[in-house]
Formats: sequence, C-alpha cells, structure tokens
Amino acid sequence: MNTAVGIADLTEAERTRILAKTARFNPPEYVTADGRRDLIGLDRDQLIAEMAAIGEKPFRAKQLWHWIYHQGVTDFSVMSSIARPLQQKLAEHFIIGRPTAAVVQTSVDDTRKFLFRFRDGQEAETVYIPDPEEDRGAVCISSQVGCTLSCRFCHTGTQTLVRNLGAAEIVGQFMAARDSYGEWPSPHGETPRLLSTIVLMGMGEPLYNYENVAKAMRIVMDGEGIALSRRRITLSTSGVVPMMDRAGQELAVNLAVSLHAVRDDLRDEIVPLNRKYPIAEVIAACRRYPAASNARRITFEYVMLKGINDTPEDARELIRLIAGIPAKVNLIPFNPWPGSPYETSSNTAIDRFAKIVMEAGFSSPVRTPRGRDILAACGQLRTESRKDIDRG
Ligand code: SF4
Repeated sequence: MNTAVGIADLTEAERTRILAKTARFNPPEYVTADGRRDLIGLDRDQLIAEMAAIGEKPFRAKQLWHWIYHQGVTDFSVMSSIARPLQQKLAEHFIIGRPTAAVVQTSVDDTRKFLFRFRDGQEAETVYIPDPEEDRGAVCISSQVGCTLSCRFCHTGTQTLVRNLGAAEIVGQFMAARDSYGEWPSPHGETPRLLSTIVLMGMGEPLYNYENVAKAMRIVMDGEGIALSRRRITLSTSGVVPMMDRAGQELAVNLAVSLHAVRDDLRDEIVPLNRKYPIAEVIAACRRYPAASNARRITFEYVMLKGINDTPEDARELIRLIAGIPAKVNLIPFNPWPGSPYETSSNTAIDRFAKIVMEAGFSSPVRTPRGRDILAACGQLRTESRKDIDRG
C-alpha cells in the first residue's frame, strides 16, 4: 500500500469517527410551542427550502437573508420590501430568534460578558473585548456548553461537556452581542465596526463541533449579510489534528493553537488531548495549514504558568518547534479562577520568555488580562449548565 494514501485514509477515518461522535452531542431541533421554526442558522439552501414549503419563490430567501443578517431585524413586520400579507404569513410559520441574555456584566476595563441562555435552558458565555485605543473589538464566542478536554489551566475544562451549540446558537451569540451595541445594519466593506473580529476561543473545542461551527462561520462570512471576512475570524483549537486540515481547506479562517507546553510529558498533563495528538503532529498540521502566510500568521497561545512552563529553555524549545512557520506567540499570564491549580508567572519570567521568542523573529505580545474582575478573561469562562437540565 502506498504510505501517503495510507495516512490520508487514516486521517479520513479519524475525521469520520470524530464527526460521528460529536453529532451525538448536537442540540435538539427547536420548534416553538405553536410550531414555528427559527430561521437563524439556516444556510441559503435551507432558507430557500423553507420558502418552498410555504409556497414562496426562492428570491424570498434572498430578501430574508438581507433583513436578518444585514439589517439585523427580528420582526417580520419591519421588512418593508415584503408585502404585509407575506409578512404575516412568515410570522405564522417562523421566528427570528436570539439567545436570551440572562446576565450581562461589564468590567471596569469595558470588557462585556454575556451569559446567554438557549431554548432548552443550557447556557454559554460570550465576551466582547473592546480595543482600548480604537473603536473596534473582538467577540469571543463559545462553541460548546462545557468541554470534553479538561485542560488543566482552564475553568471551562472543569465543566463536562453538556452539548454542542447549534449553528443558530453560534451565530446568535454574535448577533445578540451586536444588538447590545446597536451595531445594525452590518457596516459595509472597510467601514469601522465595533464588533470587528470573531475569535472562537470561548467555551468548548470548536473542532469537536466542526459542522455547526463551519455552518455558522459561513453565515457570518456571507457578503450579503454580516459579511465579516475570513481574515477577521480566528478559530482556536487545542490541536484536533484531522479537523485542522479540514478547517483549513474549507473555511481558511485564521488559526490559533493552544500550545502551552513544548514537551509532550508536560503537555500531556496541561492539555490532555496531547496524548492523542502529540506536539509533533500538531506542529506538522500547522505547517500544512493552507491559510497561513506572513500576512496571516498562526497564533500559538501559551499560558504562562509559574515554575511549570516558563523557563528560558522552554522558550528556546518553542522557537525550535515553530521555526519556519509564519507565526506569532501570544503569551497569556495565567488568569486564576476559584480552585485553580496554578499561579501566574512573574513579570520577570514573562519578559524573559517574550524576549527570547522575539529575538528569534516571532512577535510575542503579552496579552493584557481583560475582564478579570468579571471572570471574563481567557480560560475563566464557566457556566452552571449541567447535563440534567430539563430540555423542555
Ligand atoms: S482550553 Fe478550550 S479546549 Fe481546553 S478545556 Fe478550556 S475550553 Fe476546553
């Protein structure tokens, strides 16, 4: 057997296994008590099919797309290009939903954390992190309720996976955050946006919910709606290698990899997924990631843990590992949470580490902790959602 074919077959088999397993955690189909379907999260073909089901022509789907994703409306009666009888018919069959903002907290540094509640009562957190200098910012979106991966530095990882978020719930987080800032209709082209980038770095491992994440991101990137370019979206993974390849080919968004350690024995402990996909495989997947270039570098996330992974030897091994990859290294001072097992590295250790990485030619910004006072900083998200909540 040709070895290359053998590896490709294995990867495909692994992808099929991952997708089958994650499908078991998909959300139930939601229909309101009076039988109406939510139009959010449907792709264009599905929207056309819904129109056909009520005897309407395909161009209605295009009109709806504009109103839903460009104008951001949630009420059919304000869709002025649609005649009143059809507005009423649409309202009889459909809704345009949003997750409910159960709690909204704004930090002293203006970071805003939303606890969104979905229709079955499950909850996930979304964080808007404004740029302190300019009118723009990142929306950090969750992809799952809980997480399977149990990374040791991460608060979310202490909450077992409850379920995946559906495409509607993933897009819905962004849309509801935007409602909160009144940023509709979607700004055109290079017009400045407050909610200017999406980072899939909230609760969950996005590549263990690939189909829903991909569908949601295609909706967000559609040029006739929210129209956020792939360059403004960053998907963060702990290193689900077979799905990294697929995300690169199909979505070509920016990639961030939660590396956090440069030796397998340590990474096995901090990011247990490493036992399945060790460092060498993760780095190899980064080298072949198609969307990476000097203009769109891969971000390696590295949480600084006192006395654990913050020595000059660690920094030198890191630059050896990533040599030749268009990359930058985000150094994240550890953000403690109640009961967390680590301490933050000292400023001296962080500066020393950053200098070594920088002198090797990689940008190595130290991420200023944002929203720590409201537990909105990196690795601090967690909800009380549990598997046994009534799905009603
Ligand atoms: S860091 Fe990400 S993948 Fe790891 S436990 Fe936390 S949410 Fe899950």
